[in-house]
Formats: sequence, structure tokens, C-alpha cells
Amino acid sequence: MEGVGVGEQIPSPVGSIPRERDRRIWSSREWGKTIPMGKRIFCNRSLNMKNILAVGFDMDYTLAQYKPETFESLAYDGTVKKLVHNLGYPSELLEWTFDWKYMVRGLVLDKKRGNILKMDRHKYVKVAYHGFKELSKEEKVSTYGNTLVRDSFDEPDYALIDTLFSLAEAYMFAQLVDYMDNNPGKVPCGGSYSRMYKDVRAAVDLCHRDGTLKKMVAKDPGRYINGDLSIIPMLKMLRNSGRATFLVTNSLWDYTNVVMNYLCGSYNSDGQSSSNYKWLENFDVVITGSSKPSFFHEENRANIFEVEPESGMLLNTDNGTPIPQVGNTTARLPETHSTKACRVFQGGNVAHLHNLLSIASSSQILYVGDHIYGDILRSKKVLGWRTMLVVPELEKEVELLCQSIDMRKNLRKLRMDRDLVEDRIHHLKWSLNFDMLDPKKEQILSSELHELELSREKIRQQHQNFQREFHQKFHKVWGQLMKTGYQNSRFAHQVERFACLYTNQVTNLGLYSPDKYYRPSEDFMPHEFDIL
Ligand code: IMP
Ligand code: MG
Repeated sequence: MEGVGVGEQIPSPVGSIPRERDRRIWSSREWGKTIPMGKRIFCNRSLNMKNILAVGFDMDYTLAQYKPETFESLAYDGTVKKLVHNLGYPSELLEWTFDWKYMVRGLVLDKKRGNILKMDRHKYVKVAYHGFKELSKEEKVSTYGNTLVRDSFDEPDYALIDTLFSLAEAYMFAQLVDYMDNNPGKVPCGGSYSRMYKDVRAAVDLCHRDGTLKKMVAKDPGRYINGDLSIIPMLKMLRNSGRATFLVTNSLWDYTNVVMNYLCGSYNSDGQSSSNYKWLENFDVVITGSSKPSFFHEENRANIFEVEPESGMLLNTDNGTPIPQVGNTTARLPETHSTKACRVFQGGNVAHLHNLLSIASSSQILYVGDHIYGDILRSKKVLGWRTMLVVPELEKEVELLCQSIDMRKNLRKLRMDRDLVEDRIHHLKWSLNFDMLDPKKEQILSSELHELELSREKIRQQHQNFQREFHQKFHKVWGQLMKTGYQNSRFAHQVERFACLYTNQVTNLGLYSPDKYYRPSEDFMPHEFDIL
């Protein structure tokens, strides 16, 4: 194949560190160019692609990147209509609008209190809003910091905003909290934020299930999904390298076919699908309606049906093996049985998939998804699949980090200055309390202490303002996705624990050799930093 192995032959520029050679675009056309930071694949746990025999993909928000400004707005509008028309919410909600940039992933909804929280990796609440009103530090501490038993911040009292599908419902939750506070009795949930959340959840769920969203996307996929011309070349590259490829999606066949036809370029210039199923050539197995995450449970006994692509008809199988049809039936087995072409299924479980792919060890599979809980956590933790998480927000986050190197240096300096002043204050206070000082000396130390206390307050304020300014560069309300202050955010912690690799978009796989050995950077403990 064109370009195979060239990544290894790049001459090392004089003085460059060896890792630079790993950051060159592998694919032949752009060979030699450096991969931009925002498009790199980052590695938490080493992964040698040579050991990977099959690469699998989730579809929604992984291969198909929805445009939040249109797709999430559609979900928002559909949800409002269902709340008003089906669940008796006031009709003035129909006038509401959706700010699709307001909510971010990684937030946690406190269903009982009507709060939205951002926390660090130790589950300490660092930013908290009631509806759209920020809680003061005191309110935050008294609500979340003074408990005898540490709260787990998980279901059923809390809801995690961990997929991009949840941004619209989180925004509506905040709007309704404000509305309920200002209009007691107007919302039919007895003043309970938890019940209101349940209604919102039910309305969103219905939009996904009753075709509200899918019919609109099917009419005009280009309006809702970002086209990506690199998907086919990436799939071809993986297949040419000898790997099997598969798709496991919770979407059903009809919708999967619409989206994949669009992504794989089977749409006419007027946006109409030619539905030629050509996209199936790029996969060995497609599993639709997979019901992840339960798909990954070994005890899951879900039947697996073969889907006849043209009619969408489901055919019984014996654990994936075709069963000949008995009697005079018009249903026929898909032609794909006699060929090596892709087979399409609905349901089943991970054991069926391993069988269909003839996989002996789960560590030979790399699965790429966008949802930590639905796609990544169980597949890696329990099965031992290797995982890659798609985090579209990463590109902007990395760009802003690169732009703010000086700002981060200044922040660190202010933090060190504050520590130094605090240490000096403690020292002086100790002397004033316990050392035998003559009155003159005592007078000098006391005024020095006073000066230092003023300076500490100044640095504290400066540091706080500067830190707020820094975080607002990333997001005006929630700050940096992967950090809360100096600690990793809860979201970052989950990415670190569960995803072997993470990157901003799935097609970045095509920028690296299919035989790449991904290696993590060195781990550092705090005691090692001080020695560096
Ligand atoms: P996947 O990411 O390709 O596995 O597909 C996700 C599927 O789940 C899409 O068909 C979504 O429409 C659907 N989905 C997302 N959120 C909800 C929900 O709240 N209720 C029901 N379906 C959902
Ligand atoms: Mg998905």
C-alpha cells in the first residue's frame, strides 16, 4: 500500500526530540506535515495497533458529528412541544430559546435541589449554579461540603451530562428551575425539581423514539450532520492493513442507513439519498439497535436478528448463523451470506460479535465511541476491549491551552508567591507568640506581619481574578473542560481512567499509521515534580 512504513523513515530534524517523528501525518498525501495539536491522538494507556485485529465504531456523535446549533436545537424544540402538549406545561415555554453553547459535558444535575455542578476528580463541587444563578462559596460549602458521608453524586439523585445529546435537556432543566422559582404553582410537578427533571427526560426520550428527530435528519442530513470526507479513506486504510471493521450503534437500521449513506457520500447534489448500501463495503459486521451498554454485559441474552437491508425485515438467526426459512415464505436470506460482504444485524450481545468476527481475545478489539458510560466504561473495564474516546471539544481546548502558556506561567507564579507569603506569616506569628522578643523587635515583627497580611490578600485577589479570567477563556460559565482550578475535572478523570486513547475526531486515526504503537507520556507524582 502507498506510504506504508514511511512514518518510521522520517529523518529526525537536528535537535528535535524523538517523539516528534510520531507526530507527523502518516497518510500519504500529507506525509511529512506535523499533526496539529488539536487533531492528535492522546494516549492514556499504551496500545500497539499491531495487536488489534478489529476496529469498531459507534455511529452517533462518533462517525456522525451532529451540528449542535441545528440538531440540539431540534431536540430542544421537540422537547418543549412535548412538555406543553403532552405533559401540561404552560404554553409560554413555546417562546423559549436554546443557547446551545451554554452547557458543557461533564456537568452534574442535582435533581432535588435544582442545581448544576462542576466537580473535580475527587468529586468536590467547584462551580455550582441554581438554575442560572451562581451559588456563593458559602452556599456551596454548606450544601455540598458539610456532609458526614461523602455524596457519590450519581443516579438516582444526580444526572450526569456525559453525552452531547444531553446538552439540550440540561439547558431546559436550568430554565425550568428559574421559571419554577419565579412562578410557583405554574408548572405541573408540585414544585419538585426532581419531578420536573423526570418530565424533561421523558420528553427528550420520546423525541428520540417517536421519530421527531430522525425524520427531520432523514429529510436533510446535511443540515444536521457535519460531512466528513476522511471517513472512507480511514476505513479503507484500516481494512487494507488487514483489520476487520465493524459498527455497533444503538440506532436502528433505517436511521443508521440514512446517516451512513450521508457520511459515505451516497447523497445526490439535491440531498436525496441514493440508498445504494455501498457504505456497507467498508465494514465486516454492522450491529444496529445494540442497546449499549447492556450489549457489553456477558449475561445479556438478547436475540440477534439479521437485517435484510432493502426491506429492513428482521430474520431469525441461530446466534448469528443464518437459519433456512421453512415453508412458502417470501422472505429471503440476504445475498450477503454467499459472499464475504458485510452482514447487518439487530440486537445481540458482545459474544455474538466476537463470534461473527472470529475474535479469540477481547484485547484484539479497538472500539471508538463518544460516550464514556455507553461505549467505553464497560467495554474496557469488564471486557478488556481497547478503547478510543472521541471528544470533539478537545480541539478548541488544546488550541486555547497553547495560546495561554504565558497566562498559565503567571498563574503558577502567583500561586507560589501566595505560598511564600503564607509561610512567612505563619513563621512571624509563631515568633510573636512563642519567642522571647524585646518590645522593639516585637514592634518590627508586628508591622511586618501587618504588611504581609495585606500583601497576601492582594495576591489572593489577583490570583482569583486571574484564574477566573483564564477559565473564562475556555467557557464563560464552566471554564476548562478538563480542569477545575488546578485539578483534573471529574470528566477528565473518567477520560483518563476509561479511554486508552482520546482525540477530537474519529478520522484522526487516518493521520497515524495503522500499525502505530501509541505510548503514554511519563506519569508524574507530586514528589517527582519538585525534583525535575
Ligand atoms: P450511538 O451513539 O450510535 O450508539 O446511537 C445513539 C442513539 O441513541 C441515537 O439513535 C440517539 O437518537 C439515541 N438516543 C440518544 N439519547 C436518547 C434518549 O434519551 N432516549 C432514547 N434514545 C436516545
Ligand atoms: Mg454515540
